[in-house]
Order: sequence, then structure tokens, then C-alpha cells
Amino acid sequence: MVSFNRKNQKLAARRKHGGVTTAASSRNLKLLFAAAFGLLVVGLLTRDDNPDLKQEPSSRYRQQLLGSNTPPPSQGSTPSSPRASLPSDKSTQESLSPRKKLTKPIGQLKASKTPPIEWRSERIRAGDSFAIAMQRLGHSASMVANIMHIGPVAQQLTHIKPGHLLELYETKSGLEQIRYQIDPLTRLEITLNTTPPKAAVINLPVETRFRHTSADIDSSLYLAGLKANLSDALIMELANIFGWDVDFTLDLRKGDRFTVVYSELYLNAEKVSDGQIYAAELVTRGRQLRATRYEDRSGVISYFTPEGKSMRKAFSRNPLPITRVTSRFNPNRLHPIFKTRRPHRGVDYGAASGTPVRTTGDGKVLFKGKKNGYGNTVIIQHGQRYTTLYAHLKNYSRKLRQGNSVKQGQTIAYVGQSGWATGPHLHYEFRVNGVHKNPLTVELPPAEPVKSAEKQRFLAQIKPYIEQLDTLSARQLASN
Ligand SMILES: [Zn+2]
Repeated sequence: MVSFNRKNQKLAARRKHGGVTTAASSRNLKLLFAAAFGLLVVGLLTRDDNPDLKQEPSSRYRQQLLGSNTPPPSQGSTPSSPRASLPSDKSTQESLSPRKKLTKPIGQLKASKTPPIEWRSERIRAGDSFAIAMQRLGHSASMVANIMHIGPVAQQLTHIKPGHLLELYETKSGLEQIRYQIDPLTRLEITLNTTPPKAAVINLPVETRFRHTSADIDSSLYLAGLKANLSDALIMELANIFGWDVDFTLDLRKGDRFTVVYSELYLNAEKVSDGQIYAAELVTRGRQLRATRYEDRSGVISYFTPEGKSMRKAFSRNPLPITRVTSRFNPNRLHPIFKTRRPHRGVDYGAASGTPVRTTGDGKVLFKGKKNGYGNTVIIQHGQRYTTLYAHLKNYSRKLRQGNSVKQGQTIAYVGQSGWATGPHLHYEFRVNGVHKNPLTVELPPAEPVKSAEKQRFLAQIKPYIEQLDTLSARQLASN
């Protein structure tokens, strides 16, 4: 069950995060989580034991944040009304065309006047097929065949998964409805007591609840996050948001603190998944950093400072997720093969052959091919001023073509030792206006700020969250 829930949380989170780019410094995150892993058990053991750390009900803040836009709480589906209205506008529906004849009648096709008995529910077991589960619930193979006959929507039942809920609504006259929980937010519904029978995928009405939490950081952001009752996913997101500015393994100090305003998704008063971080403040070494979420007109979600500057840089520092620098930028290096003084105009990262190489910024493929000593090489153009170069590649990402647009963090190639190389490694160069810069120290430009045409909209959207941060921050300071 745990794995089932976690998987679905991820799924829901992914869904919600459609347009977010979170290619933050994954090196920091790796280190952060590796360091915290050993302490995780301790964290898990203690996190529920301290009643003082429980969050207070969010409704007041929800009101503050959303005003009258707050979605009404969902009513919950009442077991006695199986045909309770569900949002059909978002649903995909299908039904048998009248011409298509069923080989056998399904259940009772006429609406029954007998009062509902009740829903019977069954968890899908490992090794179950829909037919096996139905057999266990007392229904025949021909019933299963008839359900499959309804069409492709109903045929999704051939992909049922262990742990998911299958519910049957039966009356004296037979099987009338089937529900199958695809994930916490989606349900497949089969209606058998109509002519023709119908199958539909229903998006369940989810309620967004706003919460906030704060914590002092004693040892690591991760432990502080657990102490503040944040889920792993939200701690990760918090680290992603600030990861461009803060090295969480080195920069944190005792007395640092954070405050987060975030959402959770509820269905029938039960939390089904994490939502997103809407605003966050990190105070580290006396420096206050603030980030707010903004969804622009085209639906892209990014994090900005309250002034509208991007929290991200236009480039990530390293093209590999885990880095081991084997040779630094050095204008006066003794070349390992030629034994002569030659400038090393990039940085070498030792890595296993085949390790994915990611482009460090958005851009266009300027060059892809062999380049004498460099071997297989990719050069990416980023706007007017910047280019990055990736050399000694084993091969390229399959779909990569010259002229293609690439996104920051996208895999473009794989580490190899083509050209003049003594072993598998990536040679990476960073040029500004054609001049080689040290990739490890060059000042990275910030990503695009909020567009001026959206500035007013941005300020209006973030205002309630900034006010919320002000209040919480003042309260946290007062309590210290
Ligand atoms: Zn090199």
C-alpha cells in the first residue's frame, strides 16, 4: 500500500507540475539527500510524536489567500446515490452505438426501483486480472466479455493494478454499476443499467487546501522539513527552488530557518496528494531569500522573487548530475597526450562511458559531429552571447539534430572517449561572446524575469502569498 500511495502522489504531483522547470543543481540535492538518508529513520520515528508541530487547520489562511475564490469543499459521494452527479464535462465517455447488439443482456438493463443495497468493494490482488477479480466477486466470464464489449474506455479494465479499488453496485436485479479507481484523482465508471451500457473516465472533484509551516534549520534542510511535517516531495521542491542560490550542503548555518506556504489536494476530506509550494522564505546567514510561484498566461509555472526575477539561472553549473572534476580550466596546462603547454579551455568531468550528458541551458544545436581532437562534439547556442561545448562523446541522443531547440537539463549525448582522450570523460566549455570562460566559476546569468506585459498580473497573483509570508515571518521571529 505504501508504494501504491507514493506512486500516485508522484503521479499527481507530476500532473500538477506540468510546466515547471526544476533542473536545479542536482548535485546539491544528491548530496543533501545522501547526507540526510541516514537520519531519515530517526526523523520518521519522531515526526508524528510531537503534537506541537502539527499544522493548524488551514481554513483561515485559505480564506486569507483565496478570498471568495476558494473552491467549495467536496461533498463526498454518498453510497446511497450511485448516480450522484459527477463532473461529466471533463470526462471521456463512450457508449455502444445502438446498432451494435450485445450478444447477451448485461445484468438488468432497466433501471431498478429496488432501493440500493450497497457498494461492494474489493482491492485488486497481485496476479489478478479483471476476470479473476470478477470471478471472486461471483460474476461470470460472459459478464466480463460483455463489459469489454462496451469499448476501449471499458477495456482499460484489462490493465487493473494490485492495490487499486474495484467497486460493484448490485441490486436484486443484478450488477448495475462498476467503479475502478485508476489513481486517487481518476475513476473509471461503468453503468450497466442503461441502454446502451456506458463507460466513462471521471476526473474526481479535488479540493485544494492551503497550509503553511515553518522550521528552524538545526542540521539539514531535510530534517527541518520533516520536523515541519513537509513530505519528501515538498522538501525536494523547496530545495529545488532555492538550490540555484544556496548550496544546502555548505551554506546552511544553525539558526537558519524557512517558511513555506503550500497546497495539498483533498478528495472527500482525505488528503490524496501534495500540491505545490506557493511561496517560500529561506533565511540563511542573515540573508532573506523569497520565492513565489507564478503561472503565466500560457500556463507555465515558475518561481520568481517577489520583484519578478527568476529563481533559476539560465544555466546549470554542470552538465552531469554527479560531478568529479578531473581537469580544471587552465590557460597554461601541460597536455596529457602531447606533453606540451596548451591551454585547457574547459573542464573535464570523469564519468562512466554512457553517462547521459545534459545541456546546461535552453538553446539551439549549433553543431553536432566530429571535431578532430574533440571527437564527437555538440555545441549549443544560447541566445546571442553564449555557447556551450560538449566533447569526447560516445554518441548523441537519438533525436538530436542540428538546429533543434533544446531545454535546460535535456539529455543531448553520452559520455565517451572519442577524439584525443585517455579515458572516458566529458570535456565541457563555456563561451561568452566567443571567449572561453571557466565553467566552474563564470557568473551565470539569471533566467528570464517575468515579462513586462505580465508584471501587473504577476504582482496581483503573488500578493496574498507575500502578505502571508510577512505575517508568518513576523510571527516566527517573535516566537524565537
Ligand atoms: Zn578537456
